[in-house]
Amino acid sequence: MNLVPAAVEKIITEGQCRVCTRKDIQTSHLWPRGRGAPKYEDPDICIPLCAYHHFWFDAHQLELLPYLSLEEQLATVREAGGIVKAYRRLTYDADTSGIL
Ligand SMILES: [Zn+2]
Repeated sequence: MNLVPAAVEKIITEGQCRVCTRKDIQTSHLWPRGRGAPKYEDPDICIPLCAYHHFWFDAHQLELLPYLSLEEQLATVREAGGIVKAYRRLTYDADTSGIL
């Protein structure tokens, strides 16, 4: 049995913030666990972010889409249940920020 979930292994392997390359990183969930992402251990739904960028992403003030792989984008669409909700989560738009 593998005791290190694949998501944790991905974060450790990347070892730096996806946006700014800082080394002090956290696991950021592209779709919030509190919104019912049952597969939060899925590596495609997690990326490494520093505390600064994690905060601003969760505050819906960070354009994260350019930093994601296609697999990560698709996982977010799947977890969100549609492309509109996923797009709103991963992009910053002053008119729609915070609307999921
Ligand atoms: Zn950062």
